[in-house]
Amino acid sequence: MNNNLLQWFNRLDPLPWRWDKDPYAIMVLELMSHQTTLAVMLKRYPLWMEKFPSFEALARASEEAVFLAWEGLGYYRRALYLHKNAKKIMLDGLPVPTIVAWRSLWGVGEYSAAAILSRAYDLPILAIDVNVKRIIMRFLGKSFWDKKDAETFLTYFHGDFVQNPADFNQALIRLGQLICTKRVSYCRDCPIAHHCASKYMLRLESKNKKDIIRQDRYILLGTFEDKFFLEKIDSGIGKDFYRIPEIQENIWHELRASQLDDATLLKVRKHHYTKYQDTLYPLLIVFTDEDDIVNILQKENFSWLSKEEIKEKPLLSAYRRIMEDALAWQERRDLF
Ligand code: SF4
Repeated sequence: MNNNLLQWFNRLDPLPWRWDKDPYAIMVLELMSHQTTLAVMLKRYPLWMEKFPSFEALARASEEAVFLAWEGLGYYRRALYLHKNAKKIMLDGLPVPTIVAWRSLWGVGEYSAAAILSRAYDLPILAIDVNVKRIIMRFLGKSFWDKKDAETFLTYFHGDFVQNPADFNQALIRLGQLICTKRVSYCRDCPIAHHCASKYMLRLESKNKKDIIRQDRYILLGTFEDKFFLEKIDSGIGKDFYRIPEIQENIWHELRASQLDDATLLKVRKHHYTKYQDTLYPLLIVFTDEDDIVNILQKENFSWLSKEEIKEKPLLSAYRRIMEDALAWQERRDLF
């Protein structure tokens, strides 16, 4: 049965990774695109591939270089997984082309394994993520997901799917991005509307805002002889990245009011990650005695870094922007 999904897909402007067959390139795409917008992917994926074009190049890189290249993409564990996988594959070779073998790699779930196998090896495996599930459920008019739904769905597209699973899986992703989206269904433009049980019938609820946890963070950027005091995160989200240390709110206010040192409030910045939204209040202080900041912060995992060194270190993105604000402030100060 012809539902025109592939014809519709072929008429779209191709994304840069449309014809990739290299398992490495597809694995990078899969791990990077998780929780990342298409606009960001279009910018960052080619840069990554230029820097680390193969498992071999990635395996050779230092962890710090990998984190630096990932900076701003969030969910940094994915960069670590890619790095670990590259090292493992350089030692053991590529896994055999089965879901079980590919799932044994770090960060590769059922969906990513299916995407890699269908695209790199042309295996007829449907890659089902939350968006594809949504399309299938709407198409079949179901309100609950059942494992058999995928099979039923494929009976409408069997020829297309078996002949070209790589394009079929990509076509479904694009359909979920452009036509049958979470919030809106553009049924009039939908290439599979003919047999869809929900066409023109959906009443999509208004945006269900995720419960966001908002928190204020008071941070102290100490500088001494043109070096900056940064801390390396030793566990949890952002592990092995650098950030500006946090201090208690009352100490932050005391320092700001004390006027003992050269204290400047930098631009307040927001930092979003998972369900959190931090508001960062950065206080920049030029210290005249290096021990003062060490005593205030009582941190062990810290470094004094020059602006050149900071460029080479991976920083959480909001902290990178604050560093840029600080360096701009420093340049202005040096002019006078
Ligand atoms: S016809 Fe409408 S509801 Fe059905 S798959 Fe297409 S966009 Fe989604």
